[in-house]
Amino acid sequence: MAFPNWKIGHALGIPIYLHASWFAVFFFLTWSLATGYLPETMPGLPVPRYWGMGGVAALLLFLSVLLHELGHSYVALRYQIPIKQITLFIFGGMAHMGKEPPSPRAEFLIAIAGPVVSLILGAGCFGGSLAVESLFAQSGAHGLIVLGSLLGMVNVQLGLFNLIPGFPLDGGRILRAGLWARNKNFDRATSQAALAGIGFGVALGLIGATMIVGAWSGVLEQSIATNGSWLIFIGTFLFAAALASRRQAAPRILLASVTVRQVMVHRVITLLPDMSVQDAVDHHFVAQGGGEFPVCEEGKVLGLLTVREVQALPTALWPWRLVREIMRPTSPDFRIPPDWSIMQAMDRMAQSGWDCLVVMEHEQIVGLITRSAIAQYLQLRGSESLGVRGEG
Ligand SMILES: [Zn+2]
Repeated sequence: MAFPNWKIGHALGIPIYLHASWFAVFFFLTWSLATGYLPETMPGLPVPRYWGMGGVAALLLFLSVLLHELGHSYVALRYQIPIKQITLFIFGGMAHMGKEPPSPRAEFLIAIAGPVVSLILGAGCFGGSLAVESLFAQSGAHGLIVLGSLLGMVNVQLGLFNLIPGFPLDGGRILRAGLWARNKNFDRATSQAALAGIGFGVALGLIGATMIVGAWSGVLEQSIATNGSWLIFIGTFLFAAALASRRQAAPRILLASVTVRQVMVHRVITLLPDMSVQDAVDHHFVAQGGGEFPVCEEGKVLGLLTVREVQALPTALWPWRLVREIMRPTSPDFRIPPDWSIMQAMDRMAQSGWDCLVVMEHEQIVGLITRSAIAQYLQLRGSESLGVRGEG
């Protein structure tokens, strides 16, 4: 969705944004409360009063959604997971986490925090409106009571709906935490929880369709049709989001099952640190058609020389500079063992910023693994994307 976002403030140090689609929902909620729910529950009031109350109620509903997201965010921050922003949009809210939770336990606690906040808020609103009813029943506090029970109802619904065990809903994340704890495989757990999400998406759509058909044929009340369309809308959203998560997890599952040894380049040409850049270009870069070369001396990997470093050096200086002077010096995280999975190698590349890693076994270089070799391997296997973890 390419609609603009507006920043409206901060909470817990996290920027809060309003998505353009929020205004449509805000208007729809205000309108349906002002013309339907409020005149039905509190007849005989002037029309502007209904609109005013409808607007206030719609704002409080979005505040409830925001508090739900802040519940997730609070626990995530306790686990040192950065929250880039919270966006309020057509389906509610979303806290954009900077990385995946470190453990199933963290995943579970972060996921359940949102519904817990909603259920507590719901109970509080119901309790509040009951208290107002018993204390001020005679003094015209009817509006406050209606508003309180409406907010209570919506918060309880928000809490319960999000507990549906289909990823990426909160309940689906709780399910993923359980599956992850059981089979110790994050991506497989995501894929399975997303399959449940697809199932619940379809089920919600079917229930919604049944409600609409029931309302049309007169078996159910007419007003049920609106609820039915909402269910279809939400079911479609859940279905699409779950399908996307499953597609994203698929190549990662493949990559976790393939070892570095299967994909690495076996014939590795190394450069000596004291050869000139000109020699390296003439004898190796030209012969290999470019590439990346580990720089080694006495069995030790000192650095990596790639086309990038050579290009950065003016051609006139090639005969006068040594490989040692322009190579990227390596750190220990540049070396990996051959029995690692491709997924581990890719995570290492992402963390360390290297596009290529040296594969070592018994203190010997046995291969070289590059991003492009992995991409090529995936292409051969017919996988669509690399789906590197991190966003979400
Ligand atoms: Zn939530």
